[in-house]
Amino acid sequence: MNTRLVQQTVSQTRSIERLVEGRATSDGAGVKLTRVLTQNLQQRLDPFLMLDAFGSDQPDDYIAGFPDHPHRGFETVTYMIAGRMLHKDSAGHEGLLENGGVQWMTAGKGVIHSEIPQQEKGVMEGFQLWLNLPKRDKMNTPWYRDFKADDLPKFTTPEGVAVTVIAGASHGISGAVTRDTTQPNYLDLHLSAGSHFAQPLPASHNAFVYVYRGQVSIAGETVPVQRMAILANGAQADGVVIEASEDAKVLLISGQPLKEPIVQYGPFVMNSQDEIYQALSDFRDGRLGEL
Ligand code: FE
Repeated sequence: MNTRLVQQTVSQTRSIERLVEGRATSDGAGVKLTRVLTQNLQQRLDPFLMLDAFGSDQPDDYIAGFPDHPHRGFETVTYMIAGRMLHKDSAGHEGLLENGGVQWMTAGKGVIHSEIPQQEKGVMEGFQLWLNLPKRDKMNTPWYRDFKADDLPKFTTPEGVAVTVIAGASHGISGAVTRDTTQPNYLDLHLSAGSHFAQPLPASHNAFVYVYRGQVSIAGETVPVQRMAILANGAQADGVVIEASEDAKVLLISGQPLKEPIVQYGPFVMNSQDEIYQALSDFRDGRLGEL
């Protein structure tokens, strides 16, 4: 299977612009989580709007789940490392997200959905990323796909780095989802001690790394566990090289910025305040989830 791999090289890695420690918060009906990509970083990490990390073996931290709530104007990408969550939405989609699976939902002009844990004990761990939609696509018809762990493109580099390509492409392997405008690249990397991973990145793309096991280093700087490293955009760097001195698991996420105004009000992300008022009145009048 690995004979299909295209070799990737990076001659100069990006450096780390800033390390970010997530902020503990809760959302939904009281699910405890860490908001890693917060609202004040939306311009810097355009087209990404939010990254939440959740992980607990205490049912009280997750059992309430996320009952019916609306979204409009962007996409949500939920990656479940461990646990089971049932999704239902107003567009008629329903799916069980579990161990290693991804749910990709394009809210577009609007969905009302619920995300409810299907377990009463054990570990629930995963990530939810919000990816913006360009102005011209914000009012598109909602779209939804579930990918079981086995459906996600995976490969192992000659060095032994295990890669899951959730979006975009790496080493010539296309991800589960690709998007023309935002060009998201979303990789889950499992590195063993002493290995490294190189990913070319267009200079204009915003990129960050989130370490969820172990630690890595980039351009000589350490990224500890549960930290996001924002990678500097610089014309001379042609990608990123991630080095692991111990076993580590890392998300590498990048995309093409939209450079459009971002106006967020809770679960609605539009380009103007007027569009937010419209979303609120559509939701109040029961029109938001209608196709
Ligand atoms: Fe949601």
